[in-house]
Amino acid sequence: MEGPTGELEDRSLRPLTGEFWAAVNRGELVRPVCNDCGQSFFVPQFACPRCQSTNWDYQPSIGRGRVYSHTTVHRPPTAAFTAPYVMADVDVEEGWHLLTWIVDCEPDHVEIGMPVRVRFVNGPDGHPLPAFAPAEAAR
Ligand SMILES: [Zn+2]
Repeated sequence: MEGPTGELEDRSLRPLTGEFWAAVNRGELVRPVCNDCGQSFFVPQFACPRCQSTNWDYQPSIGRGRVYSHTTVHRPPTAAFTAPYVMADVDVEEGWHLLTWIVDCEPDHVEIGMPVRVRFVNGPDGHPLPAFAPAEAAR
């Protein structure tokens, strides 16, 4: 992502999300987990959405889940994206959701409830992004 100066920002330096992107750069998926009530949540935010505790830390995610909902994008926001592609809300096994891409699957074959596994892909800016692929294709 470009910052105000037009140079690439180091997103690992951002508060709240820095540790998430640092993990993605290592090929690992993490999620915020509340140390008081155990809730996993996303997006990272100052306080736990269940109990409002500010005592939370990132923990590794198993990176498996199911498609909760999905849509196929035919008109991308910029030419950097290759359409069509599938955006999905993935229900990750630890009880949190991630808005992400479905890859390694024809758009017409994506189904609600389909088991998926995390797979890191390079985004339009060249940085890795967490996407999900059908579980049987992501081994
Ligand atoms: Zn909590």
